[in-house]
Amino acid sequence: MAEKHRVEMVEVGPRDGLQNEALVVPTADKAELIRRAIDFGARRIEVTSFVNPKKVPHLADAEELVAMLPERGDVTYIGLVLNRRGAERALATGRIDELGAVCVTSDSFGIRNQGQSADESLAAAMEIVGLARAAGRSGQITIATAFGCPFEGEVAVARVVEMAKRACDAQPREIALADTIGVGVPSQVAEMVGRVREAVDGLPVRVHFHNTRGTGLANVWAAVAEGAATVDASLGGLGGCPFAPGAAGNVATEDVVYMLERSGIATGIDLPAAVEAAHWFTGVMGRPLPAMVSRAPAFPG
Ligand code: ZN
Repeated sequence: MAEKHRVEMVEVGPRDGLQNEALVVPTADKAELIRRAIDFGARRIEVTSFVNPKKVPHLADAEELVAMLPERGDVTYIGLVLNRRGAERALATGRIDELGAVCVTSDSFGIRNQGQSADESLAAAMEIVGLARAAGRSGQITIATAFGCPFEGEVAVARVVEMAKRACDAQPREIALADTIGVGVPSQVAEMVGRVREAVDGLPVRVHFHNTRGTGLANVWAAVAEGAATVDASLGGLGGCPFAPGAAGNVATEDVVYMLERSGIATGIDLPAAVEAAHWFTGVMGRPLPAMVSRAPAFPG
């Protein structure tokens, strides 16, 4: 990875990290998590999701939370949305800089996750990016279950490449590849990132890994080596999709930052500050979090 010395991190803890927890985190603590993420260097933060509060009660406070966000010209706040209604809610807040749209590779997951077939989910994602752009905001498209589907098993690389290519027509700021259920392995990630990068003609590729089977960090490494520009992570390693059986946490911000920074790849994140925030967050959650670096002695000293 000789020429690649910097990656951008997206902090997804406030959204992905909290939606699957038994504990519903108070809105004030979510706002504090976001403030601390900004303090440790996060400049793109997925703050919440504008979805049906009946389906994801943890995120029912989206508008209230967004109103509490610090006014920062240098921070991009991302709101995840699944349809036009969600996009309109997010844009109506006036505080969301970017809409995150999600399409899925299979009909069976799509119907459960967002009530859409795979093709419908891609059409909806493209519409969402269009709405964002029309409002002077940016939009990005995530291809969920890109590395495997909980209901249909293996997902062909060609399928993901084809969806990524079609998604480009909407002019998203990037294409993200998400391992929603944490089944990906490094060789697969390398092939997928490489082939999608070729297909999307210069558009940045972002990756989103869950550590369900312990391959999360290895997958981040493989993706960065293949030129992924942006890596998602959540403080403490919380996370999971309520509609994906057995889903476990995201790769942890502090673990990814430790690995990359000590390898000479800049992330923009202040590791000691992130570890301190993780300790605070552990107190909020009331239990040890899956991340490892924040539970280990600092190194080097
Ligand atoms: Zn996720």
